[in-house]
This record gives sequence, C-alpha cells and structure tokens, in this order.
Amino acid sequence: MKKHAIIPVFIPHKGCPNDCVFCNQRKITAHSAPLVPSDIHKIVDDYMSTLSEMNLETIELSFFGGSFTGIPLKEQSDFLSVAKEYKDKGVIHKIHLSTRPDYINEEILDNLKKYDVDVIELGVQSFAEPVLKASKRGHGVSCVYKSCSLIKEYGFVLGVQLMIGLPGDTYEYDLFSARETAKIAPAVARLYPTVVIEDTALYDMFNQGQYVPMEQEDAVMRTAHMYRILSEAGINIIRVGLKSSDIMSDEDVTSGTFHPAFRQLVEGRIAREDLEKQLIANPRIKSAVFISNPDSFNNMVGHKATNKKYFTDTYPHIKIRYKADNNMKKGIYKVFDEKEIKL
Ligand code: SF4
Repeated sequence: MKKHAIIPVFIPHKGCPNDCVFCNQRKITAHSAPLVPSDIHKIVDDYMSTLSEMNLETIELSFFGGSFTGIPLKEQSDFLSVAKEYKDKGVIHKIHLSTRPDYINEEILDNLKKYDVDVIELGVQSFAEPVLKASKRGHGVSCVYKSCSLIKEYGFVLGVQLMIGLPGDTYEYDLFSARETAKIAPAVARLYPTVVIEDTALYDMFNQGQYVPMEQEDAVMRTAHMYRILSEAGINIIRVGLKSSDIMSDEDVTSGTFHPAFRQLVEGRIAREDLEKQLIANPRIKSAVFISNPDSFNNMVGHKATNKKYFTDTYPHIKIRYKADNNMKKGIYKVFDEKEIKL
C-alpha cells in the first residue's frame, strides 16, 4: 500500500539568468501560467480531496521546476508561508524544494528554516569541473561542496541530483561524481541520463555535431554503476531517469536516453551483472537456479525479459531456471547449482 505521496508545485523560474545547455525551462515557463502563492491552496486542496482517503504516512509538498531559492526572498517567503500553514495544521508533513548549489547561502537557509522546510535537493549534475563548464552551469565544483555542507550543518535533509552524459562527461567522471556524492552522504539522490530536448542549446549542439549523446546501452551501464556506488553508501535513490510527464511531449525529445522504464533497465542491468559474476565464478555449473525476492523478480529477468535472453544467448550450455523466494532480501540476486540445493 502507498505510504508516501508528493504534492508537486511547479514554480517556473521566470527570468533564470543561467543558461544550462540541457535546460528547456524557458519553453516550459513560456507555456505555463505564472503561479502565485494563493494558487497553492487550490493545488493542495485538490490533491487532498483524493489523498486524505488513502491513509498515508507522509505527504510532502514539493516545489519543483527551476531553482526555488533563485527567486526573490520575499517571493520564496510568500510561497513557503502557505506551505507552512498546511504543515502546521498537519495536512502535509514535509516541505521539499529543489535548487542550484550557487543559490544557497546563510541568509537563504535561515529563511528556509523559518518556514520549516525539510528537504533541499541540489541540482549538482556533476562533480567534474570540465562538465560543469561545458554544460554552462555557471558555477564551479567548490560551490557544490560548500552548499552541501552548509545544508547539512543547518540540519536540512539533503538531496543530490546528478546527470549522466552531459557535454564533456565521461564514464570516469560519472563514477567520480557518484563517489563524491557518496562521501557527502546526502539522504536522497536522483540520477538523470541526459536527454536532448528541443529548444535547448544542447539540441543545437547535437544538430551541429558538437554533442554526441550516449547510446542507451552506455547510459544504462554508467547509471547502473553510479546507482551501485550510491546505494552501497546507503543513499536512497528516489529517481532514475526522467518520467514521461517531465518532458513536454515525446516530440520534444530528439535524442539521448529517454526511456519510460529507465529505472528498470538500470536495476535489471545490476541484477544481470551480479548474476553473471556468480556464474563465472562457478564454471562447472550446468544447471543453474537464479533466485531473487518476488519484488526484485522483474529486475532479475530484465525489462521485457532481456536478461533471460542475454543469459540464454551468452551461456547456451547452461540450463537456467528463475525463481522468486520471499526469504531473499530485495535487490539481492543469487545463483545456485541445481544439483546442490533443494527447492
Ligand atoms: S537548469 Fe535551472 S539554473 Fe539551469 S537554466 Fe534551467 S532553470 Fe536555470
């Protein structure tokens, strides 16, 4: 049963002075009516008409879109005071927002504390200076470290968003970004493989041959390895890949790695690597049983059974059976020799 729900409030970042090459906020902003603080009442009330029946443990009000703390402090306060009103009444339980690392300072954080904000997610994108530069993020890496530690010092829950395959990015940089994130130890993270969206500078770079998007297989592999680093560090990965609703329409996506089930591709890839490692370590196996928790079974067989096909094609001499077992921990995949176990 669903325990957690998010009430999303999209705050278009009007007049964002930055020019991140992948960003289509200008287009989104141009197509969305400006939101005023009083609109939040209607948004929350509409959501609550269905959520209140659901017996949820936590309801989070999330300010998405652009960079919340980049808007004037007075406007931030106007939005937050409405959110706090709902939190004080117990209608919602958490206030969550996303922003840029260079829009964090003591004055901003003092104000967020005043309005009882819980979670601050930073669009870090990369810990590699050349990637930030080539993506025209407008800030360097040192400000990322500074903002992350300031947010934690203030006692907010920190979230980190990373992108994979931006201009100038490499597999090594991606792993580095994941390891640096693991050292900082945010509570939550999101991984977004780069998607080329129309009306962005990246789209022009792609058309002019200055940017080559990752192949999907490469994106899945890189994201899977970052995912592994983050999850082994105990970080809750709350999103992998954009949702269909994050983009304005399918026609907007020109190239890159958009896939509606990207998370399953990544988790399936991790399962495949774990299983294959065990299979290789046991070369005498002729008949194998692959076992996972029922909740991880789809990842074990892979999206559209791609892992099954992979193992059949790569190891035609091994008979493989796939089995779900409640005694297994979620996300753990085991290979057994059929001869040696009783199932
Ligand atoms: S990604 Fe954020 S900071 Fe960059 S241009 Fe878009 S809205 Fe501005």
